[in-house]
Amino acid sequence: MGNLQYQVGVGKIDITPDYPIRLSGYGARREETSEITQRIYAKSLVISYQDNDPFVMILVENVGIPDHLTKEVSNRLGNAAGVSEERFVICSTHTHAAPCLSGMLPTLFGQPIPAKHQQRIEKYTVELANQLESVARSAIDCCVPAHLAWAIGSVGFGKNRRDVDGPVDHSLPVLLACNKDGNPIAIWASYACHTTTLNLNCIHGDWAGYAMEQIETTYSHAMAYISLGCAADINPHPRGEFKHAHQHGQTLADEINRLVKFGMKPVTGKLNGCIKRISLPFDTIPNRKEWEKRAEQQGAIGYHAKIQLKKLDSGEKLQTAISYPIQIWEFNGELLMVFLAGEVVVDFAHRLKNELDHNRLWINAYSNDLPCYIPSVRILNEGGYEGKDAMIYFDRPTYFRPEVEELIISAVHKLVPKTYLPS
Ligand SMILES: [Zn+2]
Repeated sequence: MGNLQYQVGVGKIDITPDYPIRLSGYGARREETSEITQRIYAKSLVISYQDNDPFVMILVENVGIPDHLTKEVSNRLGNAAGVSEERFVICSTHTHAAPCLSGMLPTLFGQPIPAKHQQRIEKYTVELANQLESVARSAIDCCVPAHLAWAIGSVGFGKNRRDVDGPVDHSLPVLLACNKDGNPIAIWASYACHTTTLNLNCIHGDWAGYAMEQIETTYSHAMAYISLGCAADINPHPRGEFKHAHQHGQTLADEINRLVKFGMKPVTGKLNGCIKRISLPFDTIPNRKEWEKRAEQQGAIGYHAKIQLKKLDSGEKLQTAISYPIQIWEFNGELLMVFLAGEVVVDFAHRLKNELDHNRLWINAYSNDLPCYIPSVRILNEGGYEGKDAMIYFDRPTYFRPEVEELIISAVHKLVPKTYLPS
């Protein structure tokens, strides 16, 4: 049973819009929708070690949370509840069936977004900031004594989408919080797979939404959280129908049941956190002539080039790098959680698992910001969608320089205590 070393609080708020809105994730889907197949939520999980300051994780069912929104909510929680930046993280499920947010994938559609659509996107973004603040504060206010345990399971529905025999990460780290009676109150798992089972124009949480629904049905007093690992080049398989999303959700929930039943390893250590921003440099930016040439093309490439020309015309300098947040939460040598921003390819998970003790490692991507895909050197050299081509949908001027992989890996190493090096 373990000692009640922690205070744990949970919160949940319905973030399904009650007006028509454009969904993000797929550029070809350009009509607003009011159709709701499954409601979507933001959930908060608060963990304090003994009477230490609380750590706050918010899980949002959206394709991603832009940097400006994370900063807004972080500032509000800092002011209202004293939650410092390193103790606050937002993870998204990356569902491609949730509303567009302002500043997120602004050039996704390859054409201007009509003003009426944009107004509702802005409205939803403002409402979401309020909801995220509120769901975090409600969890801070309802903490109860708890003990924690964790385990790493495995599920196999994630397949490499660039190469059928390409690398995957089937690990399923699971954190379980139980109250003093031993009943689960929070279950958090992370899996490296895109939430792209479906591409219909209706709101739902995809396989992650169905997994959380299933877990909360089984454990009726627990809140379920599914975050994503390094899933940039991983798709669910099979896909295309709702039954597949249900099936993957059930597969994941079944594995959690097995781990809970089998028994999980207690976590007892003090929770520590740190966050650092590094600069990820872009390769050589095209000159005006090149943008003018590209602007003659139809579709997303031409639209993206026109947007870059507009920036240049207004005297704006094109971005030469992105500011990239890397965050660590760790339980005093027992469990290390790494939070990476953006759509991180699976090579990063394999590198970190090789260079750190994989038995104590939990990797989240899609955390705090979704600036673009984050390719390894291998993927960058191969090119293609995740390596280079997707940058235009995120309104980035070009692809990354190859040192990006090393910059991220070495920054993680600098934040991680030496006790996590493999023995
Ligand atoms: Zn994606």
